Amino acid sequence: MTEKVIILGSGPAGYTAAIYAARNDLDPLLISGYQTGGQLTLTSEVENFPGFESILGPELMEKMKAHAKKFVKKIIEKDATKVDLSVYPYKIFVEDEEYDTYSLIIATGASARWLGLPNEKRLIGHGVSGCATCDGAFFKNKSVVVVGGGDSAMEDANYLTKFASDVTIIHRRNEFRASKIMQDKVFKNPKIKIIWNSIIDDILGKDHVEGVRIRDTVTGEIKEIKTDGVFIAIGHDPNTGLFKGQLDMDEQGYIITHDFVKTSKDGVFAAGDVQDRKYKQAVIAAGWGAMAAIDADKFLASKNLG
Ligand code: NAP
Repeated sequence: MTEKVIILGSGPAGYTAAIYAARNDLDPLLISGYQTGGQLTLTSEVENFPGFESILGPELMEKMKAHAKKFVKKIIEKDATKVDLSVYPYKIFVEDEEYDTYSLIIATGASARWLGLPNEKRLIGHGVSGCATCDGAFFKNKSVVVVGGGDSAMEDANYLTKFASDVTIIHRRNEFRASKIMQDKVFKNPKIKIIWNSIIDDILGKDHVEGVRIRDTVTGEIKEIKTDGVFIAIGHDPNTGLFKGQLDMDEQGYIITHDFVKTSKDGVFAAGDVQDRKYKQAVIAAGWGAMAAIDADKFLASKNLG
C-alpha cells in the first residue's frame, strides 16, 4: 500500500501538518520519532502561543499530540531511519519496515546546540534555556548571561534587557561574528556587559541556576560569577541528516524551500525549523505545517492521487 502523505516529526509543524492532512481526508501516516514534541518539550512556561496565556511547553505539546491523535489514525512513535527520494513513490524506512508514499512532509525541526556540560542538561528549564524569546520574561529584574558571539546571541542579549536587570555576554573569542548592526546594538545597550575570551566550565546551582564558573581562554584564570539564568545561543542545527544529498540545502544544512514549503523534489514539502532559519517560533512552525499539508493536498489532487 502506498500512503498519500507521510509526515516526519512531531513538533508544532508536524502535528499541525498531520491534523490538516487528516481533516483533508488524506489519511496521513505520522512518523513522530521516539521523543515526541520537539524543542518545546525543553522549555518551561510558554506565554506566546495564542489561546494559552500560560502553559508549560511539554503540556502544550501533549495537547497537540492528543489533538493530532483525535484525527490521525496512523502514528508510529519511532524514528525514521532512512529515506530514499531517488525513487517514486518515495520510500521511508523505520528500521526494517518500509513505507511508500506519494508525498512527504518533513517537519523534523532543529536542535539547539548545547555546551555539553553535565549541569547544563540537569538545569534546563531551571535557569538554563536555549530560547530567549520563550523564557526571557521569567527573568524580570534578574541577572542573566548569554553564551555566544553570533547574531542569535546579540539578538537574545538585547531582547533579554527588556526583562533582566543586567545581561552579560560570555564569548570565547575577543570579537563577535555577528553582523555589525547587531553588534552595535549590543555595544550601545547600557544593560549589557561583555566578558571576552571566556568559556563556561560549569553551571552552578542545586535546583536552579545560581552562577557560572568561567575560564579565561588566554590567561587560564578561573572565576565564578553569580547569575540567575544562562541562555545558550551558540547556534541550532537543523535535523536534516536523513536528507543530505537528496534535497537542496543551504550551507548550514537547512532545507531550501521555494514557494513557501516546496523543496527541490516534487511532492516533498518542508515545514518549520527544518527550513526556517529566521523565526524559529512554535506558532510560526505550526503555520508552516498547515501550509505544507495544504500544498501536499493540492499536489496529490494535481496528480489525481488525492
Ligand atoms: P552562529 O552564527 O553559528 O554563531 C554561533 C556563535 O556561538 C559563534 O559566535 C561561536 O563562536 C559560538 N559558539 C559555537 N559553539 C560554541 C561553544 N561550544 N562554546 C562557546 N561558544 C560557541 O549561530 P547563530 O548566532 O545562531 O546564527 C545562525 C544564523 O542565523 C546566522 O547566519 C545568523 O546571521 C542568522 N541569524 C540572524 C538573525 C537576524 O538577522 N536577526 C538573528 C539570529 C540569527 P565563534 O564565533 O568563536 O565561532
